[in-house]
Amino acid sequence: MDLRPDEISSLIKEQIKHFADQIESKDVGTVMTVGDGVTLIHGLDNAMLGELLLFPGDVYGMVMNLEEDAVGAVLLGDEGSIKEGDEVKRTGRIIEVPVGDGLLGRVVNPLGQPIDGQGEIVYQHTRPIEKIAPGVMTRKSVDQPLQTGITCIDAIIPIGRGQRELIIGDRQTGKTAIAIDTILNQKGQNIYCIYVAIGQKNSTVAQIVEKLRQGGAMEYTTVVSAGASELAPVQYIAPYAGCAMAEEWLEEGKDVLIVYDDLSKHAVAYRTVSLLLKRPPGREAYPGDVFYLHSRLLERACRLDDEHGGGSITALPIIETQAGDISAYIPTNVISITDGQIFLQQDLFNSGIRPAIDTGLSVSRVGSSAQIKAMKQVSSSLKLELAQYSEMQAFAQFGSDLDAATKATLEHGQRVREVLKQAQYSPRSVDQQVITLFALKYGYTKQIPVAKINQFMDELYQNIQNQHPEMITDIQQQKSISDELSLKMKDVMNAFVENFLKVNKEG
Ligand code: ATP
Ligand code: MG
Repeated sequence: MDLRPDEISSLIKEQIKHFADQIESKDVGTVMTVGDGVTLIHGLDNAMLGELLLFPGDVYGMVMNLEEDAVGAVLLGDEGSIKEGDEVKRTGRIIEVPVGDGLLGRVVNPLGQPIDGQGEIVYQHTRPIEKIAPGVMTRKSVDQPLQTGITCIDAIIPIGRGQRELIIGDRQTGKTAIAIDTILNQKGQNIYCIYVAIGQKNSTVAQIVEKLRQGGAMEYTTVVSAGASELAPVQYIAPYAGCAMAEEWLEEGKDVLIVYDDLSKHAVAYRTVSLLLKRPPGREAYPGDVFYLHSRLLERACRLDDEHGGGSITALPIIETQAGDISAYIPTNVISITDGQIFLQQDLFNSGIRPAIDTGLSVSRVGSSAQIKAMKQVSSSLKLELAQYSEMQAFAQFGSDLDAATKATLEHGQRVREVLKQAQYSPRSVDQQVITLFALKYGYTKQIPVAKINQFMDELYQNIQNQHPEMITDIQQQKSISDELSLKMKDVMNAFVENFLKVNKEG
């Protein structure tokens, strides 16, 4: 039988076509190396950055490096079951987490799986953990306060809904305490909260969850935890996962508060991943894109305009400094990305000034426009008074002969300091803050011994609550102190001071 050459060539072509199809399969690759939670994969020509990969044993990985003839991926599970030559499949998706109200009251890992032993998460849909932040035209300026319940912050460094305010300080200076108090204070404020714990001990997170539960805050809070024992890639995705959960509520027009505790550990996790992927180290051995890491996260905090639902995400990232050095690489990065910072000082903390907020170095760049008028009326001079006080305090140590004006400034400054001290888990409402600061501003504390200031303030507020509740309603409704109310408050305070001094002298 004769075979015509053109037939042969077409037959071969047909066969090669199928062959090529097989070897060119772009969705399956082979593991070349695996170790330290990182793998190098041959094939997967179509893989996308950030895409989820499926390894044998249902272990997932995430594409981090796209090289010319290999793909670098980090593993999000146990690498024990993976070996050289294993098959890897693309999933075509980037990492997604469950979102929605089913997450309230739950503790989950960064993949959205429950770790609180309370059964499956009920959810309707999922969201990718990475998303481009809303553009400028969909945003509105910050105009509503987010009350932390901490007088020093609400009065001097106010935070608005949709703002990004950094909490920064050395270890054990009360950073987490501020964030947790803020979450506790959102009870009944119609704000959803997310606490993202990165690289913390599981026992610490358990204590925090317990505190939130006791305070009734878990009803509106989700905790996302990537513990210190988790793999670096899992810690790396934690804040993005938390942010995706926040965005679901944002798009429903709700106000969300998200705490990232803390981004220093997050940067370290990212550095670990990058070094394992053999990316070139830069300053302090962090990879070149570490700034982008945090800016693309914090840019997602925003206040949307009414056309887009009017929701907001307020972000409170936390950064740990070493020996108060705010000019190190990661701190300066995050300071420049946020709208202000609350700076905590070790010395202040140790000398008993808690929360240990350094009012000189702390700032809020947008929050004051969201403060209620009543608060502005009573708090505008506080920062200056504190600055004057610390300056004169240093100077007063040298001589005992002080003129009357200096003495008065010192006496007043001492009282301001005292009023701004606040124990943990004791948030104060705005009306309480306003009344306290009103008494301070108009000198009703002049004759009160410093040691008794806080007792005085508590009793004063109780007195107004019991005897003159209409004043509190007035502040809450008008959100400002009218001349008329001001006169009434002064009358009440005059009488109260007199009585307080009498009672406490006898006792
Ligand atoms: P770390 O660096 O370990 O994360 P941190 O800066 O988050 O620490 P916290 O854990 O919040 O600090 O607080 C450290 C300690 O100080 C805790 O024991 C806490 O109870 C205490 N503390 C925090 N704030 C106050 C406060 N306002 N009054 C009294 N004690 C406080
Ligand atoms: Mg902490």
